[in-house]
Amino acid sequence: MPRYYALIPAAGSGARMGGESPKQYLPLCGRPLIHHAIATLCANPRIERVFVVLAPGDSQWAQHDWQEFSPKLVPLFCGGGERYESVLNGLRVVQDEVGFEDWMLVHDAARPCLDQPLLEKLINEVGDDPVGGLLAVPVADTLKRSDGENRVQRTESRAGLWAAQTPQMFRYGLLTRALSMLGDLVPTDEAQAVEQLGFFAKLVESDSRNFKVTFPRDMELAALILASRHSLIGAAGLPPLEEGFDLVSAAMEVHRLRRLR
Ligand code: C5P
Repeated sequence: MPRYYALIPAAGSGARMGGESPKQYLPLCGRPLIHHAIATLCANPRIERVFVVLAPGDSQWAQHDWQEFSPKLVPLFCGGGERYESVLNGLRVVQDEVGFEDWMLVHDAARPCLDQPLLEKLINEVGDDPVGGLLAVPVADTLKRSDGENRVQRTESRAGLWAAQTPQMFRYGLLTRALSMLGDLVPTDEAQAVEQLGFFAKLVESDSRNFKVTFPRDMELAALILASRHSLIGAAGLPPLEEGFDLVSAAMEVHRLRRLR
């Protein structure tokens, strides 16, 4: 039986966020942003280990307490210059532990609102797939092509278009091969690398709450989503994010974030 592993590339600088701290360490609901993705992946009983790929010179990881996720969580200080290089470096470092046919779920550190039902849906729908798959959402907005100066050039058809999210899950062997054979391509996700080899991943319908925190105001939305989930968590029997964190503290956090802008 193939085993399941997760890998979180977290070696980016988060340039589009502005700030001095890399985005994975920005405070969100009382924890560093990356904590939320780690917590969700580590809480899944089917996932054996969660590897986090950090920049070789990362000095912030050690400033936080990750004890609660031990021994499932394994930091690897081998990030690269591009996202795909961080993923590939991580895959190579774990080659003695992970089998060719094992599943590797790659998830962005910057998607803190992934929840357990979505993660389970992905694993259930892709676990028997010959290629692999990813969470994605059908594009709902009308798409405009810009002329480069914020004027509409034309309207693009959205028919058949999906926006890719993470996790993206592929067999370890296929994914490592795909990322090793890119030529000049710099893929922005794992599925794109696999497509290069002529394999096409399954799209598993997700929802927009699993968005990627990219710009400063995205932090507000993430805080509200996590806090509203937290206020329902008692009913779901899940562990709380942080003692006393609720919608009121989320609103205060949103207020704090707005003042920082
Ligand atoms: O910058 P972007 O939001 O697209 O990054 C997506 C994910 O890839 C983030 O978790 C980021 O830390 C990671 N990344 C990485 N190595 C890089 C660039 C990005 O691990 N060189």
